[in-house]
Amino acid sequence: MEAELCFWGVRGSLPVGQSQIAAHTSCVELALSPDTSIFFDAGTGIHQAMKKRTLKKLILCLSHFHWDHIQGFPFLEGLYQGEMEIEVISGFRDTFERLSVLFDERFFPVPAEFLKDRIKFKFLETGQKYSVSDSLSLQLAPLNHPGTSYAFRVEGGMSSFVYATDSDYDPVTIEADKLLRQAEYVVMDSQFLVGDSISKAHYGHSSFKRTLDVAAHSRIRNCILFHFDPNYSDEEIFLMEAQAADYLRSVYGAEGPQIILAKEGLKLKVPL
Ligand SMILES: [Zn+2]
Ligand SMILES: [Zn+2]
Repeated sequence: MEAELCFWGVRGSLPVGQSQIAAHTSCVELALSPDTSIFFDAGTGIHQAMKKRTLKKLILCLSHFHWDHIQGFPFLEGLYQGEMEIEVISGFRDTFERLSVLFDERFFPVPAEFLKDRIKFKFLETGQKYSVSDSLSLQLAPLNHPGTSYAFRVEGGMSSFVYATDSDYDPVTIEADKLLRQAEYVVMDSQFLVGDSISKAHYGHSSFKRTLDVAAHSRIRNCILFHFDPNYSDEEIFLMEAQAADYLRSVYGAEGPQIILAKEGLKLKVPL
């Protein structure tokens, strides 16, 4: 099959109003058919993604619960009607409790209780395979990030897609190393230009250089740079893309991965 990968939110930490390419926080869609999609994270981008649109089934994989990955969830169109089937998958056992915080009456007018009937919650153990369809499986692995973030791999008969953001890839966990290996398309944390990765070393994110080293080591085909620091202008993000291309050419030559800069509105065909 051929899925379509759509980028709805590619910014890290905070939405940024003036950006043409990275205004919204994390949300990536893997459209399996016109009425079924897997979404990765529910940052503010998910509101754009589902505006005036409905699906038969929406599978939402939540990497972790930092605000930038769940901020858009209460504003997901279709959440308050029953027509669209919604399944939330995560590596945390207490997903409902974590999401409930968003619906605390002090912060939001709708109480969380309705989620119990409305949503099917699925907890996945690391390494456990979950069948999305006859031909597609899903699994996850922990990443090095404060409070842990989980990477997801969708495996089809032809190739694979991995969503692996919010990580300082130094180190890559043993389980994530397996998950990343030889994947065709991988969305990766590329929060920093090199200078900032030194001053913000304890933030739990990576510089594009570290990301490219991991992508090359794991023999990833297409490395998608994602989750940009909210302080960066579009010019600085394009500078990162240029520096990444230079670094890859000088260190890995033709052996390295292809670089793709995540931009809102970008769509890619992914054979699965
Ligand atoms: Zn984040
Ligand atoms: Zn995070």
